[in-house]
Amino acid sequence: MVKKFYVTTAIDYPSANPHIGHAYQKIIADVLFRWHKLLGEDVWFLTGTDEHGKKIQESAEKKGKSPKKFVDELSKKFKEAWDFLNIQPSRFIRTTDKDHEKLVQDVIKKCNAKGDIYKGFYEGQYCVGCEAYITEKDLINGECPYHPGKKVEKLKEESYFFKLSKYQKFLLDLYKKNPDFILPKERRNEIISRVKKGLNDLSISRTSFKWGIPFPLDKKHITYVWFDALFNYLSGSGKNKKYWPANVHLLGKDNSWFHCVYWPAFLKSTGYKLPKTVFVHGFLKFNGQKISKSLGNSISPKILVEKYGADTIRYFVCRQFPFANGDDGDFTEKALVDRHNNELADKLGNLVSRVAGLIEKNGVEKTENKLSKKLKLKNIEKHFDNFELDKVLNEIFTFIDICNEYTQNKKPWETKDKKVLYELKESILKIAELLSPFIPESAEKIKKQFSATKIKKGEILFRKI
Ligand SMILES: [Zn+2]
Repeated sequence: MVKKFYVTTAIDYPSANPHIGHAYQKIIADVLFRWHKLLGEDVWFLTGTDEHGKKIQESAEKKGKSPKKFVDELSKKFKEAWDFLNIQPSRFIRTTDKDHEKLVQDVIKKCNAKGDIYKGFYEGQYCVGCEAYITEKDLINGECPYHPGKKVEKLKEESYFFKLSKYQKFLLDLYKKNPDFILPKERRNEIISRVKKGLNDLSISRTSFKWGIPFPLDKKHITYVWFDALFNYLSGSGKNKKYWPANVHLLGKDNSWFHCVYWPAFLKSTGYKLPKTVFVHGFLKFNGQKISKSLGNSISPKILVEKYGADTIRYFVCRQFPFANGDDGDFTEKALVDRHNNELADKLGNLVSRVAGLIEKNGVEKTENKLSKKLKLKNIEKHFDNFELDKVLNEIFTFIDICNEYTQNKKPWETKDKKVLYELKESILKIAELLSPFIPESAEKIKKQFSATKIKKGEILFRKI
């Protein structure tokens, strides 16, 4: 049976334009997706937009638009941004999609049938930025830790509750038995210690605004946006939920509690299988500044792609930031230009153009490719499994260095040794294949160039900036 691989990203809240911080996670997901496809697996990649909730309703009102029209326009911008970056999801889901809305209503009925839902009152401090109540102890100077400067609002409303408290033991067992359920380890430890302190039941319906999925148990209520949003992974998992359970959910650390605690409890209640891994990554800054609306256009994926090209941006974020550590990173244009010039142009670009030129003049002669034995494929596979994309690229570029040295030492421009050139050609094809998840456009050009019957020098792959 063919192995399945299903990767998801957080779905973005389209209350403003997409930026490079959103793009980071989508690029990683696309790279993982393309890698597993290369391995011959049956793959699925889901991303999309999270379109309900109070914040959307308010942002739409400010612009004098209906919420639906507002999200239609913004959702399109996210989709386009991913297109520019060559990010190719199997489905771009919108939580306003009819099949998703139906699924959410069905799962609420399932939770209810299980005895996990009851009616009560909720009173608390609500952060519109998070679309969530914040418990007193998590407030910093009376403000949400993720939205400093934004006021939390005191709300009291009739609400339906999900019996989250019932799932404490289940969750702690889950984390214990499956050390890979939450990655990296540091995030896992944080979650475990918070869950050990006890869980409050969760309010999963709202009456204070209208923009949401009607709550099927009571028509005065709409569904809490996180309950709605999390289930996108299930409704977007292919025909008849073919790809469920997901291999990995990628998400930023502000979303970790929802994915590591609520989500497995909801799935358990509704009888669905659990995902294998919830991977919590760090945030990006841009040229040393926290990414915010005020940075405006400079961080728009489209503008960056026009300036540097999709491949360079994809390569840079995967190579520069140790994704697997979950640390924050700083996207600086200087570091990007350095990597573009030193690695893509000098190392890869030079190898490709030099060898192509030599083959054009001298031709090749088939022989055993001993050179490619120096490529550490096992390490590359292992690093991919551990989400260490920076290390994958490090391995590939170590091999590119080896190929450059080999060319230098063997001097095929003097010896006209067609066997050496054959080894180099085959090795470059291998390099192109391994780089194809990261730099799909350039990798395809190299592949075409070196699989042609008459190999020619061709155009420069990466012009120096
Ligand atoms: Zn917040």
